[in-house]
Amino acid sequence: MNVVFLGPPGAGKGTQAEVISKERGMEHISTGDLLRGAVERGSPRGRKAKEYMEKGLLVPDELVVDIVAERVSRDGSSGSFLFDGFPRNLAQAKALDETLKRLKDRVDVVFYFAVSEEIAVRRLSGRWMCPACGANYNERYIPPKEEGICDRCGKVLTQRQDDKVETVKKRLKVYREQTADLIDYYEERGVLRRVDADLSVEETHKEINKTLTSLRKAR
Ligand code: AMP
Repeated sequence: MNVVFLGPPGAGKGTQAEVISKERGMEHISTGDLLRGAVERGSPRGRKAKEYMEKGLLVPDELVVDIVAERVSRDGSSGSFLFDGFPRNLAQAKALDETLKRLKDRVDVVFYFAVSEEIAVRRLSGRWMCPACGANYNERYIPPKEEGICDRCGKVLTQRQDDKVETVKKRLKVYREQTADLIDYYEERGVLRRVDADLSVEETHKEINKTLTSLRKAR
């Protein structure tokens, strides 16, 4: 089964994707994480992506589309993916359809994380992540057991550069202008499911799980 998590930054997609992908044995493909990894390694793709990411802009489609195509087509992959933060515009959505079609597959369901802008900004400004293992925390909603330290690997947590207020505002604007169109694209295909992402992590998780279980039964 292939699932897409769609919604603005701060909607909680990454938090849900981490849990759901583990529970359901799906490969979690977060283009944000893959790009941050490339930036950290200083690879040619990372060097190209860095300036866009720092400004809160989308990196060029070709770059992300290639990264995703490589991941889904590689040997030994489970063939069941959870896309988090991808696609982010119409061109990427069409490229994903093409990539999956080549593998005789398709997008089965798209969860649209509907969240108020106020909550999104509050979540992003309280967000901390582990630079070593990528675990996400939030000082208000999902705090680490020990302040500033990763529960999983004990490293000191950091804040993302692009979670600064000005960049957050830019990212939300980019979402409204470029990504929100995808709601119609997937609605027309009959695969869109709306999730109330203003709810707590547990409640949102329950909603998503209910839909995934009913879809699995119907297949
Ligand atoms: P995220 O972790 O999903 O919030 O992504 C962080 C940043 O990575 C975004 O602000 C973009 O600069 C870049 N990025 C992530 N995914 C994509 C994508 N699908 N298309 C273009 N840029 C992306």
